[in-house]
Amino acid sequence: MQIIKTIDSLRQALKPLAKQGKSIGLVPTMGALHAGHGALIKASVNDCDVTVVSVFLNPIQFGKNEDLDKYPKRLEADAKLAESIGADFVFAPSVEEMYPDGDPLTMVRDEALESLYCGAYRPGHFRGVLTVVSKLFLISGADHAYFGEKDYQQVFLIERMVKDLCFDIQIHRVKIVREESGLALSSRNEYLTDEEKARSLGISLGLKQAKEAYDAGERGVMKIRDTVVKSILANRGQVQFVEVVSQKTLQKFNAGMLGPDDKAVILVAAFFGKTRLIDNIELN
Ligand code: AMP
Repeated sequence: MQIIKTIDSLRQALKPLAKQGKSIGLVPTMGALHAGHGALIKASVNDCDVTVVSVFLNPIQFGKNEDLDKYPKRLEADAKLAESIGADFVFAPSVEEMYPDGDPLTMVRDEALESLYCGAYRPGHFRGVLTVVSKLFLISGADHAYFGEKDYQQVFLIERMVKDLCFDIQIHRVKIVREESGLALSSRNEYLTDEEKARSLGISLGLKQAKEAYDAGERGVMKIRDTVVKSILANRGQVQFVEVVSQKTLQKFNAGMLGPDDKAVILVAAFFGKTRLIDNIELN
């Protein structure tokens, strides 16, 4: 496996492989890889001839008061993990390599959904994500790209961007990988103290309870939502949002009942201590 740091050298490495008809899979990450990223890499290795894992802590998707500076960095360990799963390349460019002129003047935005849910609390976040993901698609020329459902709004927006802008790439969703306890794996879990980590199970437990209630016939949007809110509050978490939204459109189901054709997903963001965690569960 090769670690590549420049756009030119990645293109030089991948173009001949593409010419030989080899399929290229891309797994975009911000590093501090864990088994959740591992599942994405594995899916790419299974499907594609060549797998590229990008490790890039993208500054333009972080707000001023967010955790860019303290985000965990460990390229060597990341490369080892990627290699052990069968990745062929790790692409780890510097910020200067990706943004040689400072913040880009041209950015990709989803005008409809960028200000909802996570976007409402992280202004500019999704345009930073869509812009860097577009760049990675164009740099790699990948045929397939892999994203986790952990970041549900993100994968939804990327699928929509690919459709809207005719990117010639197939997006694959990978299910959330959880600890045995239920906690969704995240690089940010490293910020949690043991005590906060134990309390943060309030999120996944609440989601599980809401799904169980749905499976037992509960269709009231507020009841489903409140099950999750209560579980987070009972564990002294701070709710940022809990919303029951459409899997198809990401629009919110307001109070009322879910109909038989309403495919819903519950999106959650909550703080435990200073750490913001997100999670979700599909209801059918
Ligand atoms: P990140 O490094 O946090 O930007 O994540 C890179 C990719 O890994 C994104 O597509 C995430 O959705 C995905 N990912 C992160 N955590 C998990 C998880 N627990 N299960 C599945 N995918 C994940």
